[in-house]
Amino acid sequence: MKCIECNAPVVETVEGSYACVSCGTEPVSARKRDSAARPTADD
Ligand SMILES: [Zn+2]
Repeated sequence: MKCIECNAPVVETVEGSYACVSCGTEPVSARKRDSAARPTADD
C-alpha cells in the first residue's frame, strides 16, 4: 500500500489503522467503509 499524497510506503499503526511513513497521511483506501446503508422504509 502506498500513500496517495506522496506515494511513500504506508505502515499499519498500533491503533490498527494505516499511516504514511513520510507524511503521516492515512490513506483513504485503508479507511473502513462506513457505508451506512440505512433503510428508508419509514412509511
Ligand atoms: Zn504520504
